[in-house]
Amino acid sequence: MAAPTLDPVLRSAVDLAREAAVEVAGGPELVGEHLGTVVEGERLVAHQFAATAPGYPGWQWTVTLARVPRGRVPTVNEVALLPGDGALLAPPWVPWAERLRPGDLAAGDVLPYLPDDDRLDQGYEATGDVDVDTVAIEELGLGRARVLSRRGRDDAARRWYAGVHGPTSPVAVAAEKPCSTCGFLVLLAGSMRTMFGVCANEWSPDDGCVVSMDHGCGAHSETDAPTPRSEWPAPAADVDLEIVPPEGPTADPGPAVEAGLAADADAAPTAEAEPAAAPTAEPGVTDEPIDEQAGESAVVAVDGRVDDATDEPVDRGEGPVSGLG
Ligand code: SF4
Repeated sequence: MAAPTLDPVLRSAVDLAREAAVEVAGGPELVGEHLGTVVEGERLVAHQFAATAPGYPGWQWTVTLARVPRGRVPTVNEVALLPGDGALLAPPWVPWAERLRPGDLAAGDVLPYLPDDDRLDQGYEATGDVDVDTVAIEELGLGRARVLSRRGRDDAARRWYAGVHGPTSPVAVAAEKPCSTCGFLVLLAGSMRTMFGVCANEWSPDDGCVVSMDHGCGAHSETDAPTPRSEWPAPAADVDLEIVPPEGPTADPGPAVEAGLAADADAAPTAEAEPAAAPTAEPGVTDEPIDEQAGESAVVAVDGRVDDATDEPVDRGEGPVSGLG
């Protein structure tokens, strides 16, 4: 069959074609120059005009003309706006179920049922044998229409291990000990048990998440925070300190202590200073150390009894422990 030829009557009907394009476009300013003709069939020709509307670069107004055999009058078959070479086009349409990515699902969204999802296998069907059914359904948890297939388990394990709850996350790299030794780890059942558990520590960033055994964090049950160092400077080793005796109600040190301090102050400790202290002790002053005297008076004040040594009532408003009453 011979190829159709360009009909001369239809080829010359450019004005008729432009008029039809302007009518559909809405104005003469929206139809540009004549770009050419295309032979669509016997006595069937398409005229193409550039589209000048903003947002349609590369698009063309296409007007198809035809005439009947032995007829001399062309008629307009159709007018269409079609993309040419380099036309700005929308991306190909993708069904919603194929467009959806992990994490896109929001509250109220429902995914389409996939009858041949290779991440799932047929679940266990009861056999009527009570012992076998109890193990499969209650202990192994297989009493569902479908359960995870080997592929589904492998995919999940790889995803979890490589994610933020695996051993390569920054919090795990900085951790001192792994989750496998942490008291907050709840182990999984089945084949996942040796690799993963669930963190049950509300102070951890992984609380409620599946974590790998070699993951870890700073909230591990067996680790501790380091004790901060004091910001005060350490005292110099060779510094000279002045020793000052304590003050108190029985602070009268007596001649013996005074003699001793005087000897220290003179930096000339002699054997004569200590023997001289004992004979100069006044009546009523015991040979007991001063601190012990203070302690006795404190006990008397607390009990509210009379001091045996003086027969005088003890003033409750004085003394080192008066505030305790
Ligand atoms: S608290 Fe930290 S170390 Fe312990 S299980 Fe959770 S993530 Fe692992």
